[in-house]
Amino acid sequence: MSIRYRSTRGCADDPGIELSQALTAGLAPDGGLYVPTALPSIGAVDPQAPLSEVASHWLQPFFADSKLAEALPQLCRQALDLPLPRVDIGADGDQVLELFHGPTAAFKDFGARFLAACLGALREPNEPVRTILVATSGDTGAAVAGAFHRLPGFRVLILYPDGRVSARQAHQLGAFGDNVHCYRVSGSFDDCQRMVKQAFADQDLREQCAISSANSISLGRLLPQATYFAKGCAERAAETGRAVNLIIPTGNLGNALAAILVRACGGPIGRIVLASNANRVLPELFAQRRYQGRASVATLANAMDVGDPSNYERLAWLYPGESLFAAEIDAQSVADAQIKARIKAAYAEYGYVACPHTACALEVLARLREQGDREPWMLAATAHPAKFETVVEPLLGQTVPPPPALAALLAKPSSALPMRADYDQLRGELQAVAKT
Ligand SMILES: *Cc1c(COP(=O)(O)O)cnc(C)c1O
Repeated sequence: MSIRYRSTRGCADDPGIELSQALTAGLAPDGGLYVPTALPSIGAVDPQAPLSEVASHWLQPFFADSKLAEALPQLCRQALDLPLPRVDIGADGDQVLELFHGPTAAFKDFGARFLAACLGALREPNEPVRTILVATSGDTGAAVAGAFHRLPGFRVLILYPDGRVSARQAHQLGAFGDNVHCYRVSGSFDDCQRMVKQAFADQDLREQCAISSANSISLGRLLPQATYFAKGCAERAAETGRAVNLIIPTGNLGNALAAILVRACGGPIGRIVLASNANRVLPELFAQRRYQGRASVATLANAMDVGDPSNYERLAWLYPGESLFAAEIDAQSVADAQIKARIKAAYAEYGYVACPHTACALEVLARLREQGDREPWMLAATAHPAKFETVVEPLLGQTVPPPPALAALLAKPSSALPMRADYDQLRGELQAVAKT
């Protein structure tokens, strides 16, 4: 079977484009998201093999027809050799799959590093330097900056809302230097995102500066995220002899969609529950069988403050019509007060220190237990709690030391340039850095 990629908004007889074209393009020209023209059935992965080997086996059918097919094993070694520990919690066989042991301490490192490796491999020798332009509410910007830092032929321009990311997140964003340009915008995350969208829609600007996106709708981020679920669930299924039920902290649906894809390709995954914060769009979708995107609300789990997840379009493609509601997927909403209470309870009950996002998944697990569910669950832990020290430390009454990679960044000097929430200023900066 040869897999190509077409838009979620395209028609079923569209022959599609090759993977590397979809990776470079990001969004499809009709505004849809790229999806594979077929879903492969992927045989059992070796739970003993390192993640990079599992990844190269699992991704092989998706890459077979592309320019990157031969490079795939090397890309996986280069980008995905990160630790993937599973930690037992409680006595019911539940586990946490920790996805935050990469250089910037959030799961987004896997996707950002893999995308950078792919774009680096696809770069032609005489191409102008490409600017990766990102708006971030915290974690994405750091992961993308870390992945492209000092990568020849690329520079990164980050916009983040001044005063609205944690102190450690802000320090981290400004600490890379070299080819990473960091701007603190006097405005909200939505302002940052609007300015970035305007830049991508500005044809004159795009003729002068080569700009690319690295946001979470990119296939180059989605596909590698599937591999840690393939590996973690294969390991657990080998121990228990049964499919693994997953609870996944969810915002823009990138991480959860990767798990759903693994299951759709035959991976040993059972039920999937999405843990949302007070942004209720997904819980409402499953309760009312109707999708209604809305504006986002600010919560303690700020990386999940999404009111209208862009990856929903891929979920609707995978499960057309009412089939989504028979797909063993559910979603639950967790309010800030419950996040706080759960961070304390998880520490008291299991000695587990969770970030506010992971706490949403822990709260969903506690509810399932209260309802009498006795099956074992695996929870995705999406960020290291030390990244959200201002929330976690007061609740636990103790400091949460950063892991070594994060500590190294925090020890470096950090600087971010001020920017107004004004597109013309961004445009000027893009033109100025393109000349350097
Ligand atoms: C980005 C992020 C999420 C949400 O992931 P999605 O793929 O957008 O659903 C959850 N937790 C943390 C820590 C994140 O950085």
